[in-house]
This record gives sequence, structure tokens and C-alpha cells, in this order.
Amino acid sequence: MNLDHASVWAKCLSVIEDNISAQAFKTWFAPIKPVKLDGHVLTIQVPSQFFYEWLEEHYVSLLRKTVRKELGPDARLEYSIIMEHIHEGASSSPYTVNMPTTEVRATRNAEVAMPIVGEPAPIKNPFVIPGLRKLNIDSNLNPNYAFDSFIEGECNRLARSAGFAVANKPGGTAFNPLLIYGGVGLGKTHLAHAIGLEIKNRQPDKTVLYVSSERFTHQFIDAVRNNTVNDFSHFYQMMDVLIIDDVQFFSGKEKTQDVFFHIFNHLHQTGKQIVLTSDKPPVEMQGMEQRLLSRFKWGLSADLQVPSLETRMAILEKKMYADGIELPREVIEYLAYSITTNVRELEGALISLVAQASLNRKAITLDLAKHMIDKFVKNTAREVSIDYIQKVVCDYFDLPIELLKSKTRKREIVQARQISMYFAKKMTKSSLANIGLHCGGKDHATVLHACRTVNNLSETDKHFRKYLEDLEKKLAIH
Ligand code: ADP
Ligand code: MG
Repeated sequence: MNLDHASVWAKCLSVIEDNISAQAFKTWFAPIKPVKLDGHVLTIQVPSQFFYEWLEEHYVSLLRKTVRKELGPDARLEYSIIMEHIHEGASSSPYTVNMPTTEVRATRNAEVAMPIVGEPAPIKNPFVIPGLRKLNIDSNLNPNYAFDSFIEGECNRLARSAGFAVANKPGGTAFNPLLIYGGVGLGKTHLAHAIGLEIKNRQPDKTVLYVSSERFTHQFIDAVRNNTVNDFSHFYQMMDVLIIDDVQFFSGKEKTQDVFFHIFNHLHQTGKQIVLTSDKPPVEMQGMEQRLLSRFKWGLSADLQVPSLETRMAILEKKMYADGIELPREVIEYLAYSITTNVRELEGALISLVAQASLNRKAITLDLAKHMIDKFVKNTAREVSIDYIQKVVCDYFDLPIELLKSKTRKREIVQARQISMYFAKKMTKSSLANIGLHCGGKDHATVLHACRTVNNLSETDKHFRKYLEDLEKKLAIH
């Protein structure tokens, strides 16, 4: 057979593309170039050390699987990294690293069909637990999602502490089930894993299983097809702690709800812990059987809110620290100010930014951040926020932002406040009332008056006009 590196890599890419998000594919795989194929060894070129580390950290098992699929079980992947010129003079000789062939960390979400460890493959019916030996399953927990890396804030205080209580005493608190709900990207999955990890840490003997409701549903459908529903139920009934993520996915699936109902009852009656997450509170769940909904309400429902600015900054800083990334403070601030409602997008923006800077060998500046955020983060509002305007204005005049938001009538504060209102009206879609509310609790008439004053001053006062021009540049998205 005549294989060449380009066609092998193209085939790998087509598999990879189906398995990850479009954004991730574009960011991490599009820049890779296949360079040679030597027997079983495929060499690919990546733009920087950072890329290599990121691929290793996040995509190693996917890469390994796809390469083996194309080149057989002995396949190996080698990276050729283009040297970074930024610090190191002009050396451009690529050096290669072998992909470690040792296993990825075991608690990572495995891609196996059913998490029974140590079973000789292939298993016909994965739910049959051989003999009565202690159930030894892969808990499917992601070690990156621990309590340690979950930043606490007003937005998650209740859910986090309830989760922690449950982790201390699974099945032994009033929080059973514990239902964590909230919008996308607010940390439900992270918290669910954290609970499982903490329990495993404290009590390694407990049988803990994290499963997405999608996976649960698919397994159930397979069990129906293979006539193994009893085994399926028994398997789940043997858990000490069952964590099911995104239960809203059960909506409208009566049979799945039915089997889950029985599993739920069994676990609950025998004092086992159930942790659920959902994108909405039980009262708003549609297409869910009443008897199941009423059980969801037995324990505690705790919500995750949108994090405050301080919490968003803390999350970014934690993330940077964990990934060994350094960014200028103003860039962090810009990200935290601009992406307000979804922590996943916030992190995505950070990572895209670092990747792009590394790819193009550019320093990470505020300008680059502004440019990138628009291009790479979907759904990001293209308008600046009132908070951001206030911050830029206060920085410019060197005033504390608390004063601007207060009711003080000191002259320089009044002026900064009026300028903020002016830009907020010009650059955001906020109502006058909302702008007023953000700027010391003023009413809409005050905002209109402020805009008029700023317009008048800019026509008569040269210095004032210069302030506005400077600020306008700072606030521009591009
Ligand atoms: P959800 O399941 O609610 O959609 P995730 O749990 O997947 O959200 O969170 C999205 C990303 O945001 C994850 O990478 C997670 O680690 C991160 N994240 C969310 N909230 C926090 C937090 N309070 N502290 C640290 N990271 C967080
Ligand atoms: Mg989730």
C-alpha cells in the first residue's frame, strides 16, 4: 500500500473533526502540517511548544486513536516544533519530541463504552458484573475539575457548599438528591466532578460514577436492544454515589425516565447519594414525569448564577496559573469585562488568545485581545459593556470606580460620570434608565442631560474634546 504523510494526516483530520468542536478544530488542528511518514511514524509540525503541550494535554488520546486507526497498532506520532524566535535569537531548527506512549491519567473521562476496568475486551454485555467481587469501575471523573480549581463567589456559594457537604457525607445529608442547576458554562459539570473527586479522595472504597444523561440514555437504548435492561438497572443500583449530568436531556424520553425512576428510588432508599445537574430548576423542566420531578425536589436544588466581575477575573487568573500562562493585567480585565455570562466562553477566549499569539508570534496586547475576542468567541456581544466604559473612563482620569458609581457630586467625578453615560448611550444598547442605574442611581432625564452637556462641552472645549477622542480610541472594539 502506498501511504503518504499528507493523505494519512488528512484522514486523521477528518476523524478528529467529527470528534471535537469546530472552534477547537480550527484553533488546534488547522495549523498543523504533516511533514513525513516513516514506516509507522508520522511526523507533524506544530507552530510552538505551547501548541505541542496543549495537544498533549488535551488531545493525546484522540490523536493516538486516530493515528493507530490509520497506521495500525504500532503507529507513533512525532511532533516537530518550530522553535520560538521570540526569546531565542534566530535559531530555526525544528526539534522533535516523541509522543509519550504511556497512558493518559486514568480518571480522565474515558471513551470506552462502559466504564468497567480490567475487563478483557471485547465485552458483550458490559453491565454484567462477574461474580460478587468488589465493583471496580472507572468513575469517569476529570481530575482538572476539583474543588481546588473551582473559584468560590457569591454566584455559587450555596451550590458549592452544599456540594462540599455532600462530598463529606455522601447519602448522609438532607441534600439527597443534590440538584445543581444553571445556565450553560457556569460550572455545573465542574462542580459535579468536584463532588465525585472529593468523595473518591476521602473514601476510595466508595463506588462513584459520573455519567452524562446522554450517555445513560444511549446505554439504556443499547440495553433494550440487547435485552439486558435488568443488568443495566442492577449496574446503576450498585453505585454508592451516582452523578448524572444534564438531566434536562431526559425530557420527553419516557422509557429512560422510567428506568431512571426505579434506579433513583433504589439508591435513595438505600441511603446512596444522587447528584444531578440541569440547565433549569425542576419547576421549569418540561417533558419530565411528575413523579420524577417531585423526587428531584426532595433534596436541595441549588443554582449557579453568572459570576461577578471579580469572580470572573479570579477564574481567569486561576486558569492562567494552572496552564502556566502570563497575560498583562489589562488583557485579563478586558476579557473579564467583555465576556460576562459564560465561564466556558471566557476560558475559550483566553485560550484562543494565547494560541493565536503563539501561532503568529505576536505579543499578547490589549489590541490583539480586542481583535481576537470578536473573531473567535461566538455569541460574544459586540458591544462594550457599561462596566467596561466606566472602568476605562476611571482609569483615564485616575479616579476610583466606586466613586463614579456612588452619588457623590464632586466636580471631577460628576464629569467622569457624565462622560461614562455619554459613551454608554453611544456604544451600548442599554436603556437610559439602565445607564442611569449603573452610574450612581440616576434617572433617565439625568442621563439625557449628561449627554447634552458632553456634546456641548466637546464643541466648546478643546481639551475636553481631546479627552473624548482618547477615550473613544480606548473603547473601540477594533
Ligand atoms: P456547565 O456544565 O454549567 O455548562 P462547566 O462546568 O462545563 O459548565 O464549566 C465551563 C468551564 O468553566 C469549565 O472549564 C469550568 O472549569 C469553568 N468554570 C466554571 N465555573 C468555574 C468556577 N467557579 N471556578 C473555576 N472554573 C469555573
Ligand atoms: Mg455541563
